[in-house]
Amino acid sequence: MASSAPATRPGHPWNDPALEPYIRIERVSKRFSGFVAVDDVSLNIYRSELFCLLGGSGCGKTTLLRLLAGFEEPSSGKISIDGLDMSGIPPYERPVNMMFQSYALFPHMTVDQNVGFGLKMEHRSRSEIADRVAQMLKLVRLSEFGKRKPEQLSGGQRQRVALARALIKQPKLLLLDEPLGALDKKLREHTQFELVNLQEELGVTFVVVTHDQEEAMTLSSRIGVMDHGKIVQVGTPQEVYESPGNRFVAEFIGSVNLFEGQVTASEAGHLRIVCPQLERPLDVLSGDLSAPQTRLWVAIRPEKIQLSLQAPQAASNWTRGLVKEIAYLGDLSVLLIRLESGQTVRVTRPNVWRHEEERITWEQEVYLYWHDSSPMIVRE
Ligand code: ATP
Repeated sequence: MASSAPATRPGHPWNDPALEPYIRIERVSKRFSGFVAVDDVSLNIYRSELFCLLGGSGCGKTTLLRLLAGFEEPSSGKISIDGLDMSGIPPYERPVNMMFQSYALFPHMTVDQNVGFGLKMEHRSRSEIADRVAQMLKLVRLSEFGKRKPEQLSGGQRQRVALARALIKQPKLLLLDEPLGALDKKLREHTQFELVNLQEELGVTFVVVTHDQEEAMTLSSRIGVMDHGKIVQVGTPQEVYESPGNRFVAEFIGSVNLFEGQVTASEAGHLRIVCPQLERPLDVLSGDLSAPQTRLWVAIRPEKIQLSLQAPQAASNWTRGLVKEIAYLGDLSVLLIRLESGQTVRVTRPNVWRHEEERITWEQEVYLYWHDSSPMIVRE
């Protein structure tokens, strides 16, 4: 899974306790006639971050975005932007621009006119408007489409017009609701990288709502994972993927194999766990201090399990199974392997060689093994 943005970004402002957050959300809840859509959320977002709110349908991410934009008022709690309390401040007086899921383009205007609309309202000169519209359309790869009307565009093209229109005024804070949902995979990837570059170039703070975890991983400086109106974890893409805070996050972000087990020995930095589904115990490098007898869940990502046709020599960290499915995806293959306990384990293998020497095939018995740093201890 690509995670380009954080690796290229210098420093982590959120690690500096002296830095003032740009957006401060303090114990915010939003209730709609008894239904709690946003539940006691506290969150700080810093200037120039590209922050993604990630979660399944109905978890409250759009509502949280609308609260930031001022289209909804919190039922309780407080939101400040750039040090100013936003209570009672209408959307048009907030330092915010929002791009909606439905993009709301003006049907009677051309693409050029739609994109330039905000500047026209500010009475900018014709030549400035034309220059900046051209710059924006180049960015979203629509330079040839300026004279068309929205109805003459595909869904993805309309979405890019909306993005250009939201960006042209170079807002300090841009809120995007599923901005790339209608784009095909290639274009989405291109636009994701463009968004990251643009964000770095302009220093705009972006808050993006998405249900697509790959998109969140690619775009974000940090991700806030939401479930049932609550923020369940905030972290860099690497943190939420490699150290999920609970079982929901582990399963929601990427694929995971989960095993229930019991701690049999625990010493500093190291746990021995017995899982009935696995042939051998797990020896896990972990900061977890669970005492012997503790029951817990162990998660191992599919790409962290290796396969062999020979039994490993180690006393721990391996098991055995039968290959039931193989899906060849070009860059990698996905294998579903059934253990003797009946549990199916998902393993991904990069196709490094064009022709494999040690071919693994259907119904073959294979050994699955992993490094002691690979298993993650997850809570309910
Ligand atoms: P999706 O990805 O499907 O857009 P979401 O996470 O953005 O989902 P929200 O739009 O924030 O979800 O909605 C959260 C919950 O609040 C949903 O159960 C929704 O039905 C409910 N909700 C949102 N707006 C209202 C409203 N105006 N009145 C009543 N319920 C609402």
